[in-house]
Parts: sequence; structure tokens; C-alpha cells
Amino acid sequence: MDSPRNNEQARLSKWIDSLLSSSLVPSRWRMTTRTGSLLCDCGSIQYDLVVPPSSQLVEQTNAVCHCRDCVGFCLALPNGDSYLQNNGSFMVNFYKSDLQLVKGRDKLSTVRLYPHSAIVRIYCGECHTPLGADLVGAAPICLVNETLIHETYSVRFLPSVVLGYKDALHGTKPYARSVSVKWRNYGPLFLWKSIWRVIWGWLAGKSRGGFLENDYNRDFPVGLDGLKKVTTQ
Ligand SMILES: [Zn+2]
Ligand SMILES: [Zn+2]
Repeated sequence: MDSPRNNEQARLSKWIDSLLSSSLVPSRWRMTTRTGSLLCDCGSIQYDLVVPPSSQLVEQTNAVCHCRDCVGFCLALPNGDSYLQNNGSFMVNFYKSDLQLVKGRDKLSTVRLYPHSAIVRIYCGECHTPLGADLVGAAPICLVNETLIHETYSVRFLPSVVLGYKDALHGTKPYARSVSVKWRNYGPLFLWKSIWRVIWGWLAGKSRGGFLENDYNRDFPVGLDGLKKVTTQ
């Protein structure tokens, strides 16, 4: 797992972190590691957020997504509507390696909305809080439900981006997979910054660890029908 290349990348990131936080840097530009935590409603699942300067070099990006995948996932969970903001799902983009699972591994529950989908949605099996989404595989980033970010961690990012769903797909598929990105609400800027975030993540070797701790070989359940069955038991 830890190839020589990964070790070199880890050393490079550490070096950048210490450089950016050192006293050689004038205080107004100095960057410190920012910390916080992610908790589900019942407290069974806890992640620590440790975001070093090398992650902050490329800002977090966030979006309120109105696609029926994101909204449908929330609404399939009991009290799911309380996790929506302006009827959309407010997601913040983190490097997986900046999330450390502290407790609740056995409570981590997952669902793919489609067979072979690269996106695995994560929720607490106990209280059914939607935690976010992991982009399975090589992608270094994951999406975290903004309402669960606690404590001193202040997310520094773009103004909220609103992604809308395409009505044309209504009725033909259980969910609408594509979202429309509008110029007037920073959509293209969001995509541009997200692309840079992914590229920087790869260069700096930030894909290790993460939301599901790279446990990508297990069989993830597929579809919200199964999810509803689980949550009404
Ligand atoms: Zn919980
Ligand atoms: Zn969405």
C-alpha cells in the first residue's frame, strides 16, 4: 500500500506544511493546521478533522446540491429534511486524508444509488444521520454534510454554489444523475477550483485514509429501496 512514491509525497506534504506554518513566514500569511470534528446526531460516529496548510493551499469548495441523488438520499432517511438547506444538500469538499475516524466504524452504513456508481453515500446505522459521500477509488476528495462540522473549525471557501437538477429526467429514472451548473451562481468557478483541488490532492498524495478508510472492496448495498427497508426496521 505504502509505495515509495507515496512516502515521497507524504514527506513533500509534511515539508510544505512545516514551511507554511514556520515563523519564517510573515504572520499575516502564516498558515496553521485547522482542526475540528464531525459527529453524527447520536454521537456513535466521530471523525477528527485535521486540515494541514498543504490542504488549505487549495481552498475547500462547497455546494448546495439540488440534484435528486443528493436530496433523495437525505429524504430517504428519517428526519432527512432537517439536513437540507434551502431544500438542497449542503456539502463541503475535504481531502480524505484530513478525516480520521475516531469511533463508530461498526456503525458506518453505506449505499450506492446505482450499481457500479463511483459515489458511496454514508450514514449512521444508529441515528441515520447522512454523513456525506465518498468518491471511491483514486479520487483524493470526499463530500461532507456541512451541518455536521463542529467546534472551532471554520470552513474557508467560495460563496455557496447552488446546483440544480434537470427536470427533463423526471419520471424516467429513479434519480436524476446530472445537475445543471449555472454561470450566475459560481458553478463554473466551483468546478474549476474542484478540478485544481483534485490535481493538487494527487500531486501531494492526499488520497490515503479517509471517510471509508479505503475499504473499497466490500459490497456496498445499492438503491434507496434497500435503505428505506433498513431504516424502518
Ligand atoms: Zn449516529
Ligand atoms: Zn447532487
